[in-house]
Parts: sequence; C-alpha cells; structure tokens
Amino acid sequence: MQSVPFLSLQPQHDLIRRELELGFGKVIDTSHYILGDEVVAFEKEYAAYSGVKHCVAVANGMDALYISLKLLGIAEGDEVIVPALTCVPTWMAVTRSGATIVPVDVHLESYCMDERKLEQVITHKTKAIVPVNLYGRPANLPVIAKLGSAHGIAMVEDNAQGHGASILEKHTGSFGMVAATSFYPTKNLGALGDGGAITTNSDEVAESAKRFRNYGTTQRFHHDIIGINSRLDELQAAFLRIKLKHLNDWNKERQKIARRYQDSLERVGDLILPRSVEDYVQNYHLFVVRTNQRDAFRKYMSGREVMTDIHYPVPPHLQPAYHSLGFRKGNFPISEKICETILSLPMWPGMKEEQVDYVIECTRGFFV
Ligand SMILES: *Cc1c(COP(=O)(O)O)cnc(C)c1O
Repeated sequence: MQSVPFLSLQPQHDLIRRELELGFGKVIDTSHYILGDEVVAFEKEYAAYSGVKHCVAVANGMDALYISLKLLGIAEGDEVIVPALTCVPTWMAVTRSGATIVPVDVHLESYCMDERKLEQVITHKTKAIVPVNLYGRPANLPVIAKLGSAHGIAMVEDNAQGHGASILEKHTGSFGMVAATSFYPTKNLGALGDGGAITTNSDEVAESAKRFRNYGTTQRFHHDIIGINSRLDELQAAFLRIKLKHLNDWNKERQKIARRYQDSLERVGDLILPRSVEDYVQNYHLFVVRTNQRDAFRKYMSGREVMTDIHYPVPPHLQPAYHSLGFRKGNFPISEKICETILSLPMWPGMKEEQVDYVIECTRGFFV
C-alpha cells in the first residue's frame, strides 16, 4: 500500500534548492535584512506578474488585508461585506479594522461570494466588498467590482489563494481598487515562512501602504502617520523571487492533476467535482470535492493512507471567536452545507502520477 500525504512542498524545493541556497548567501553577503534590494525587486516582479502598477510587500496576508482596509479609511461604524465561506483571516482583518462584518452566502457551485446577494446587504454604511478567490477559483470579480462602483464601494480582493488565476487573461489581484495576498508556505506562491503583499494600480494607495507598513515613515526617523511594523524580510523576498519564476509551471502541474481527477472521478458515487469554467483560469490551490458521505469517505481514505483535509470544517460565523456577533446555524445555509460535505484531495506540484492514480483508485473503491 502506498501512502499519499495531503501536501508536500519537498518536490518544488528540491527542484530549486541550489538557487534558494544562493539566494540565502546573497542576502547574508549584503548584510541587509529589512527592506533592501530583494524586496524592491520582488515588488516590481510581482506587480508585473499580477498586471498592476504597484506591489507593496508586507509581513503576511492578514496584514495585507488589514492595511488595505485601513488605507481606504475603513474604521468603526463602517460595514464591510465578506463571504460567509472563507479562511478566517478574511473576517479577522475586518474585525481588526474596527468595521462591522456583513457576511453574504456563497454559490454552491463556485464556493465564492454570491454576487446576486450583494444588493440586499448594501447599506449607506458599506465601505468595501471583499470577495475571496477561494480554492484558487476567481470570484465573479468583474460583476462585483461593477456593482461596487455603482454604489461608490471599493472592492478589496482577498487573493491569498489566487496566485496565477485569471478571468479573460486578467490576473486576479488586479480587479479591485486594491488586493491583498498571502505567501504563507502552502499557498501557490509560498515563502519559506510568512509573507504577504498588496497589489494596486493606485499610486496613492501604494505610497500610503509603504509608509504604513513601516511605522508611518517617509524618511528615516520622520513619521507622518501612526503605522505598524509589517515588512517582508529580505530573505523571504529573495526566496519568493526564485519561486515566482516557477509559479506558472507549478500551476500548470496542478491543473494537469485536476484534469486527471476530473476525468477519472466524474459520475463516481455522489461526488461533485470542481468544474472548469469558460474564460476562467483556476490555479487549483485546493481540489475540493463534495459528497454526502464526507466523514465516511475521509475515514476510508485515511485507512488507505491517503491524507485529505477539510477547508473549512466550521464557517467563521459559527466559530466561538465570533459568538458575540450573534449568528446562528441556518444563517448562511449554503456555506454551512458546504462545510459539512466538502473534502480536499491531495494536490501539489510534483505529485507523482502513481500517487494521483492511487488517490483515484481509493476514491473509486469507496464509492463502488
Ligand atoms: C491564507 C489566507 C489568508 C491569510 O494569510 P496569512 O498570510 O496566513 O495571514 C487570508 N485569506 C485567505 C483566503 C487565506 O487563504
């Protein structure tokens, strides 16, 4: 019996190990560890990759979201619309800004924010809409951006899971007024530690973000505003520059694995697979399937040493942390249903063909 982990970063790092070591050496040789040439170069390269004018690198994805909201002037008394199904940092960044969280349910098919439900929650207090490109599938960004503009509301994309995804060849992270992303190691573009970035076409937002991430500094020891410390390390920037060059290839590998899963698991049991959508490129950050027998399926797979995961078992509105907001089971029924029935199958660049085959074989074995 084989064993298949849920995820392995080993193959991608093995491939570029020498380059990473050289990058590490280069940073040691400069003795410059914070906001040096590597960060500046990475910002330029990631902005170009994303198709935007500016990238501002920060310490992590949560900070990128928080800083984006903050720079739009969002504070207590404002409302920010978020999807009911997301990784909890989307919500916590809004909480940290002081604004009130206004969740909307998601589409059962795309797992992303349901744009048809936005109108009914927009009020005169709404200051931003934060769609999430969940699992690497773009939300309906053009429609959400347009709706936001019509109401004078900014769209802030949470693109933590969307590196390299696109709609009509326009990369996610370039649709809104500003977008936030994360380089957490397991993301499609992951650092060897924490990292994040803001992407924007606005000179003003980029300038303010650069100030805000570094104690409000414009010039050494001169502080215009009260900022925070949220800087990307030189070392992480050096690693990210190396990994960015491979991002498209690694995403292609994920897409290939996704296609094999889709071809082999279609109409197997009651399994619902992620679908490809015209004009959308998905990066398959996660390969999420749905079945009414989720827990039994997961147990069966684990008995055959195929590791799976659930993203996410409990939606933010039912987390103890958000108890005080007063949401109950039943408030966002589609998100809740998704959390009860989804399972993420193993997926990573460098996953071997035999491993993919074994996952397929075990999955079929459960459902026949
Ligand atoms: C990972 C992630 C974040 C937060 O990123 P960190 O770098 O861990 O702070 C935010 N939103 C989504 C959707 C994520 O997947």
